[in-house]
Amino acid sequence: MTFREKSSSASARNAINGNGSSKSSSPVSKKPVWEYAPSPEAKDHIEIRSQYDLFIGGKWQKAKKYFATVNPATEEKLSEVASASKDDVNRAVLSAERAYNKVWSKTPAKERAKYIFRIARIMQEKAREFAVIETMDGGKPIKESKSVDVPLALAHFFYYAGWADKLKYAFPNQVFAPVGVVGQIIPWNFPLLMAAWKIAPALACGNTVVIKSAETTPLTLYKLAEVIQEAGLPDGVVNIISGAGDTGAAIVNHPKVKKIAFTGSTDVGKLIMRSIAGTDKKVTLELGGKAANIIFEDAPIDQAIEGIINGIYFNQGHVCCAGSRLFVQESIKNTVIKKLKHRLKSLRVGNPLDKNTDVGAINSKMQLKKITELVNSGIEEGCSIYQPECSLPERGYYFKPTFFTNVAQSNRIAQEEIFGPVLSVLTFRTPKEAIEKANNTQYGLSAGIWTDKGSKIFKMVGQLKAGVVWSNTYNRFNPASPFGGYKESGFGREGGLQGLKEYLNF
Ligand code: NAP
Ligand code: MG
Repeated sequence: MTFREKSSSASARNAINGNGSSKSSSPVSKKPVWEYAPSPEAKDHIEIRSQYDLFIGGKWQKAKKYFATVNPATEEKLSEVASASKDDVNRAVLSAERAYNKVWSKTPAKERAKYIFRIARIMQEKAREFAVIETMDGGKPIKESKSVDVPLALAHFFYYAGWADKLKYAFPNQVFAPVGVVGQIIPWNFPLLMAAWKIAPALACGNTVVIKSAETTPLTLYKLAEVIQEAGLPDGVVNIISGAGDTGAAIVNHPKVKKIAFTGSTDVGKLIMRSIAGTDKKVTLELGGKAANIIFEDAPIDQAIEGIINGIYFNQGHVCCAGSRLFVQESIKNTVIKKLKHRLKSLRVGNPLDKNTDVGAINSKMQLKKITELVNSGIEEGCSIYQPECSLPERGYYFKPTFFTNVAQSNRIAQEEIFGPVLSVLTFRTPKEAIEKANNTQYGLSAGIWTDKGSKIFKMVGQLKAGVVWSNTYNRFNPASPFGGYKESGFGREGGLQGLKEYLNF
């Protein structure tokens, strides 16, 4: 690892991104500081076309309108992508229906498995390219796309390839059939991974797919379309389109779409529920979260600090299961805050393509505005803000890793999903109080518990209303392990056997 001396005049876009009012945002000191030398990931092996059409029926098909996708780290345009109209959605659904009736429903399960396996293998060969494009289109640090997004996406294809010809062992003595055409809509925080969560089990169960990427992150899905072509998957089995909310709504409302798999915000989830009421469509909703990360006084503190950091600053906090509410037992509050401040100072914020970067770019201008607004509400409501001194790049959308103390449960920052690198620190005295406070939210997606006592973990897990509870770790995923929410975090599970069930009619 190389270090270099950093000039004291390094530009610093300080303050709470925009309004310059942060207490900790004094200019960079005159003293020379030792910095990591830049370690940029190469881009010369990356192929991004200047324009992407819709991937329908195994072919690239023109749309009437196109929109730009930008690199949020630099604000540069990366490509123009098709905006699918209602007619385009209809074309995609009819192509999926044709593929289902003529080919896929007649393809033996073990052949389906081979296609899914082949997709995984080709993705694996292009893993680096996928990682770089994911980072450029979405702003996440390259070390995360390389070590989390892409390998986990692959793992889902491999895992579900294995199940395709073993469904009768997964659901013994039951009669079941594929659903038919499924419509899938995904968010921008883990584009390739969310696509893998959805496409792999759908294909394993014998369905055909129309999937829409999120507006700001269409590129890795179109890269996946190229892989699907290379794998020789029969035309129309997977159709990949891009567009805005209207495109998503057209998928949801199409009468030939028999199941909706949606990952996104609770607000849009509610809209979807309203629009399919009274139909026979199956639906799974993976929605927002406001997870409690609970640290007991008997926890291994340094390990817990790493868990807090990973819980909220991973992927700039654009994580549905982010540990955005930290509950610290009162007796160790001062120690935890001190260590947290120290650790925040060592987080490197900046160019997501730099291999040293810990916190990359905020996904879009709109999201940056939302985070800034909620952080300002925290300040206005009297909470105390902490941000480390660090310089932010001149261009692009960035937000300093932030935490708040003196937070009341009723404050907006303790109730609303910020979906940014912002942590609210609260305290508790007893396990009972921790459970009550942790469950005091409209959401119920995930939680974390840090303690030395196994018995405490079991007691807590049974009473926390959260789909996933991690103990002495955080943000761990495995294709074999189901994921999903309670309450307004949605219903249905993705991953594992439970994830297969959602794509079959029994
Ligand atoms: P979003 O605004 O709800 O968008 C999600 C997807 O739905 C996007 O593709 C979006 O298209 C599309 N969409 C928008 N309006 C629609 C409508 N009326 N009908 C159908 N589709 C519509 O959410 P987001 O901001 O992209 O993602 C962040 C949210 O996702 C957070 O709340 C996060 O917690 C949640 N999330 C949950 C999980 C989970 O597993 N539970 C995982 C990841 C993220 P556009 O991109 O064009 O708006
Ligand atoms: Mg983009």
